Parts: sequence; C-alpha cells; structure tokens
Amino acid sequence: MKSFRIMAIDHSMDRQPVPVAEEVHRSELFNSHVFDKRAMLRYLSKEAYLAVKDAMEKGEKISREVADQVAAGMKNWAISKGATHYTHWFQPLRGLVAEKHDSFFTVLQDRDVLDKFTGDQLVQQEPDASSFPSGGLRSTFEARGYTAWDPTSPAFVYGTTLCIPTVFISYTGHALDYKAPLLRSIQALNEAGVKVVRFFDRNVKKVYATLGWEQEFFLVDSALFRARPDLVLAGKTVLGHSPARGQQMEDHYFGSIPERVLHFIRELEQECLRVGIPLKTRHNEVAPNQYEVAPVFEEVNLSVDHNTLLMDIMRKVARRHNFEVLLYEKPFEGINGSGKHNNWSLMTDTGVNLLSPGSTPMKNLQFLTFFINVIKAVNDNEELLRSSIASAGNDYRLGANEAPPAIISVFIGDQLTKVLEDIKNFKGGKLSPEEKTMMKLNIVGQVPEVLLDNTDRNRTSPFAFTGNKFEFRAVGSSANCAGPMFVLNTIVAHQLQQFYTEVEDLVKKKNMKRDVAIFNVLKSYIPKIERILYEKDNYSKAWEEEAKKRGLSNNKTTPAALKIQVKPQTVALFEKLGVLSKEEIHARYEVQLDHYSKQVEIEAKVLCDLTSNHVIPTAIRYQMQLVEIIRGLKDIFGASGYKKYAEEHMRELQEVSEKVNALSAQVEELRKLLEKAEAIEDFVEKADFYADTIRPMFDDIRQKADALEMLVDDEIWPLVKYREMLFTR
Ligand code: ADP
Ligand code: MG
Repeated sequence: MKSFRIMAIDHSMDRQPVPVAEEVHRSELFNSHVFDKRAMLRYLSKEAYLAVKDAMEKGEKISREVADQVAAGMKNWAISKGATHYTHWFQPLRGLVAEKHDSFFTVLQDRDVLDKFTGDQLVQQEPDASSFPSGGLRSTFEARGYTAWDPTSPAFVYGTTLCIPTVFISYTGHALDYKAPLLRSIQALNEAGVKVVRFFDRNVKKVYATLGWEQEFFLVDSALFRARPDLVLAGKTVLGHSPARGQQMEDHYFGSIPERVLHFIRELEQECLRVGIPLKTRHNEVAPNQYEVAPVFEEVNLSVDHNTLLMDIMRKVARRHNFEVLLYEKPFEGINGSGKHNNWSLMTDTGVNLLSPGSTPMKNLQFLTFFINVIKAVNDNEELLRSSIASAGNDYRLGANEAPPAIISVFIGDQLTKVLEDIKNFKGGKLSPEEKTMMKLNIVGQVPEVLLDNTDRNRTSPFAFTGNKFEFRAVGSSANCAGPMFVLNTIVAHQLQQFYTEVEDLVKKKNMKRDVAIFNVLKSYIPKIERILYEKDNYSKAWEEEAKKRGLSNNKTTPAALKIQVKPQTVALFEKLGVLSKEEIHARYEVQLDHYSKQVEIEAKVLCDLTSNHVIPTAIRYQMQLVEIIRGLKDIFGASGYKKYAEEHMRELQEVSEKVNALSAQVEELRKLLEKAEAIEDFVEKADFYADTIRPMFDDIRQKADALEMLVDDEIWPLVKYREMLFTR
C-alpha cells in the first residue's frame, strides 16, 4: 500500500491543469469594486456626497438623515456590482478579519419583499462577537462589542458582499481591534505634525503617515500541505530535514516566476485591483517557493486595511490554484523566514513628503527636522517599537541570520551620517548673521536631494532610511501592520510635541530666531540619538555585544518583549496622546500573551503527536527491518561468520535505537511540562513558562527526529519532506 506521503506527491503531480488567469488591463480594473468618489458622485445626492467627503477629510459627523441617503446609494451601487449581502468588516485582535454577512433582502408585513439598507445599519452594528478576544474588557464592563463605520476607508464589494470597513469597540468605548488605536494615532500625529510643519509652511492643514508594505510569503502545493499536520495546525513545520539543495544557489531571487505561481499572482492582482489594493510589484524571494508582492504606498489607514484584505484574498485565490499560502514568519527551519517591510513616511495635504530632502536650505531644515525627530522617537522608544512586532512566529525569525535581530537600530547611510556629524560640530546658541548663513549653506544646504541608491543600502538594518522614507523591516509576515504603525505614529507624535515645545521655549525665553532655535534643538538631539544609529552588519555577533554596551534592549521572546507595554511610562505615553487607555493596554497585553501561549502550545502538541505517531513508529519499523536483515545474515553465515557482513547494519540499528529511546523520553517530558503549563492560571506566568521552558525543548527533539528522517528508508517515511514542499511548483 502506498503511504499517505506518496499519495500526496502523486496527487500534486497528477492534478488537473490549474486555472489560467488571463491578463486584463490593470487600469480598467482598478477600484472598479470600490465605493470611491466616482461611484459616490453617481449614486449619491450632492448633499450626501459632500457629507461623506467632509467625514473622510475632516472627520466630521454625518447626520442620521444623510446616513440613510448614503446607505441607500451605497446599496444600489453594491447591487449593481452583484452584491446580495453586506458586512461590517473589521480586524479583531486575533485572526485576520471578521465578517458577519446580512442580506439586503427584507420581507415587509404583507410579505412584500424589498432590498433595504439603512443609515443605522451602515453606521453601527452589533455583531455577536462574544468569542473575540478582548482581554477581559467586555466582561469587566459587562458589555458586548459593536462595530462603527470608518468613512476614511471606502466600502468595497468582494464576491457578492458589500464590505464596510469598521472599528470594533466595546459599549464603553474601549478598542477591541487594530483599527481604533491606529485611527487615534493618526489624529495625534496630525495634530503634532501640523504644529511643527507650520514652522516652515503656514498653508499646511494636515499631516499624515504613508505606508507601502512589501508582503513576503511561501506557497506550498495543497496536496503536500494537507499531508503535513504541522502546517495544517500550526502554520509551520515542526520537523523536517533540510534538503540537499537549500537556498545556497540563491538562484530563486529575481529568477523567472514559475508558470503556475504566475497564474496565481496574476489572478490575485486582478482581485486586489478591483477592491482598490494597488498591487504593483511581484517577484521571487530568496528562499525556494518564497515570493513577494508590494503595492503603491497609500495613507496608512487605507494601506493597513489593504494589507489585511490582501492576506485574506491571497488564501482564497491560492486555493483555486492548488496552493496554500504560508504567512507564518518561519515555516521552514534553516530556510529564510518571511517578513513584511513597512515603508513609512510623512506627507502633508499640500503634497510634500516630509522625509524627502529639498532643494533649498530651508526645505532641508524641514527635512532634517522630521528626519531627526523620527530617529529620536525610535531611540527613546526602541523597546516599545520592538514590542510592536512581537509574535511567536517572529521570535523564530528575528536574529535567525537572515532577518534583523531583536535589537532596534537605525541605518541612515554615509551622507546623512556626515550631515549629522557636521551639525553636531557646528557652533550652537545664538548665531551671528554670518554664522547663520554658514549654517544654512554649509550645514543644512549640503543635504543632497537623491540620497541613497541601491548600492548604499544596508539590508541587515531593521529600520533603514531609504532616501525618502523609513523602512521598518522587522515586521513579521503574518502581522497586522496596524500594530507597528500605531506605535510608530504615536512615538513620533509625542516626539514632535516635545520638539515644538523646546523650539518655542528657545524663541520666547532666549529670544532666538525660529530657524536658529530649530537648528539648536536638532543639534542638541544628535548626541542623544547616536546610540541607535548603526551602519554595519546587524546580523553579526559583534553588534549584539555592542548594542548591549549601548544599553539597547534585546528581548528575544515575545513575553519578554511585551513587558514594556504595561510599564508606567508606556501607559503615560499612550494616555497622553489619547491612543490607548490603561485598561485597553492591559487588555491587549493579556490578549497578546494568551495568543502567544496558545500558539506555542499548539506547536508543542503537534511536535509531540508527530514524533510519537509518525516518527517513532516509522523508526521502529525500520529497526525491525534491520533486525530481520541481521538475523538473516546470521542464519546464512552462522554465528561466527555473519558479523563482517552485518557490521554496518548493527551500527545503524544501534543509532536508530538510541535515538528512538532518547526521543521517547523527551516527548514524554514535554508532555508532562505541557500539563504543567496548562495548570498555570496567571497569563503572564504561563506565557513565560511557554517561552522559557517549553519552547527551548523543541530544538533537541527536532534534531533527533530529523536525524531519524535521514537514517530511515525514504520509502517508508510518512511525512512529506522539505525538498518536496519547497521544490514542487
Ligand atoms: P525596495 O525597497 O524593494 O527597493 P522601493 O524602494 O521601490 O522598493 O519601495 C518599496 C515600497 O516602498 C513600495 O511599496 C512603495 O510603495 C513604498 N514607498 C515608496 N515611497 C513611499 C513613501 N513616501 N511612503 C511610504 N511608502 C513608500
Ligand atoms: Mg524594501
């Protein structure tokens, strides 16, 4: 009889031809299923259109009557796109997205039927959401959650459903999702940013963050995926010997995209463009069967929604092409993990990228202001920023020689390093007119417009300046971008507030000219931010030692990294900026730790099960085969003569037997520890136990199991192997 593994391989080979995605003209598809301005102008009255526009741009409230009008127009538009249902689409703290579909279809008293969608239904809904994680918030306040329309992210039709982006909050107003704190951080950043940018340009009314993510992922053939219980249950492999050919050839990166994958990505792009995700780039990544897609950047709230939506659409489209998408950060040991680079910048409503160097000294002073303030924010909050990307999956990836370590540092390149050096060494305090000219021309004026070409990039840096934006590379591939983005927005907003106050103090108290005051404050920051700047190899051991001397945090596990989130200074920061309250912070802390514990628990249980149900029984079968051979040799050659033929088999039998014994003992121990972990009630203690006691056992077990995979006859090995998962395309 064929093994399950061989059947899966056969199945992946014999499969019917995969669907072919025909090419469609991109610009025709884009936004075709989004309730954008064009659609609103067609389906809304002028009054309703202007009300939505004000809500989008100025955050103004929409009256009940107008909401009814908007809902009716939105419904008619959605039906014209084939929608039958609507849903409030939101991003809970766990899982990707949540939807509860309701039909437009309504039956009136006299059994007349009607398609109906009211303002109330648009603006607010009460999903039966009692099973979403809330870190005790809902039970504490004895209230259920509700969803509320976010007009700044347009509604869209996906499949036959009208999706309305919403926040998810408790009746007491506590955030239970990713979007609520993100929206609050956007507001805080706008307020602080506008005040500072008005030092340079009085016309600016709005400052907002932009985000362009790059999403990495693996594709695995569906049949092979289903034959790996660890991939199905934990999203990652807990066992598996590295293939003879790994990524050492480095020929996958930027190689041609395999045919089947191309059809998948093409269909993905088409579905994404329809709902407004502006996908632009696609390419192979470093590891075999690893790929990346990236859009044109957008305002951060929209971009976050689009990334979440992309991850959801990806899974669905991939299945049509007999692929499973792996978003886990480190699905294969010894092979590159997947990240999600978050390219972030600051823009004004006048269309200026505040992190883009200008052509005049004054514009450069503006650039340097935002550039240095962002670095200062990262420096002062490095541990908090690290915590924003903490997850069970990312713990495996960070520091695993192809991703930045768990230490946050900033790369700025040679030219800007020199600019900062010059600012530091320039005279401070009040400047004479000649000195001021010198400052403007020689110091500030020297910032070159085009800063970094591709050769001057440090790919090992977790937070790199790349010419007109910062690229936060330590974000995990499965993360919701809102996590790191609301933290970054908040710390930068806070820093800009501080900067504004310091500059105004110098102007008022020291009677300084404003540009000189700005220069002086920036100058005073440089010695403070030096510890976070690092231009060399972040993957090296030397950096870990150096970072320790500099006092930078290096929290290797999620429970260790998250502790900073509940420290008084963090609570004070978030409360001051109005982004999260103390209750919300504690609730989120609990949800994250609970999620971590559950993920590690699943991984541990899968590891135990695979080892005791697959690896050990197979190894024992192989042991029996060896025993049979040795016995046969003895029968034929006699007790005195057989040894010289059986030597190799004896040695192998011994090795297999030793490994089986040791493995059984370790799995037994792991099971006992799991029972212990389950009994721990305190969620902090529990997560620490999973991180410090349970997880460290995985490596040893895995090594023995993988060694057995190498020893045992390939014919009887039941689990799909790495080489099969990674090289079937
Ligand atoms: P790479 O980093 O691979 O060389 P690019 O520099 O072309 O690629 O850009 C990567 C990502 O950065 C893209 O998603 C792009 O939209 C985004 N990006 C470019 N400019 C900005 C900006 N001002 N703000 C935010 N993201 C940006
Ligand atoms: Mg990049």
